Order: sequence, then structure tokens, then C-alpha cells
Amino acid sequence: MPRLKKCPDCGGKMEPGNTEFLIESEQGLIAIEDVDADICTICGAEYLPAKSNEYIEKTVEKIFTKKIAPHQETVFRVVAEA
Ligand SMILES: [Zn+2]
Repeated sequence: MPRLKKCPDCGGKMEPGNTEFLIESEQGLIAIEDVDADICTICGAEYLPAKSNEYIEKTVEKIFTKKIAPHQETVFRVVAEA
């Protein structure tokens, strides 16, 4: 998906920014931080470009296979312990 210039929800201007992506795991609720996203300046809707989805997929796999631990790399943290 190309970068969005206009918000599909409200038509507002989209700006590149960072968000966090929450997933459930056996370690608890995990936030993958600093995910590249297009964020609406009007309504705050967040859309992830394709490369962010790939990044999340790879990171989730590393977390689930325990190749990385929270704060080992600054990519994710445990929000709530399981
Ligand atoms: Zn919007």
C-alpha cells in the first residue's frame, strides 16, 4: 500500500508518525514500539504501510520464538504480564 495522503475516514491530511502495535502473547500484552504509520491530523486514525506490517510480522515471530526479550532491543515492551 502506498503512503496515504488523505484519511480514508474523514478526508483529513495524513502525516507520517510513529505508533505502537499491541499483541497478546504468552508473556502478556506486548507493545511493539516505534512502528512507522500514517496518522490523520484531524481524527487521529492510524494506518500502517505494508513495510510496517512486515516489520510487525517479523518482530512478532522473534518475540514468539524468544529470539528477543523485552528491552533487549527497544522494539517492544510487556504492557501487562500474563
Ligand atoms: Zn481522519
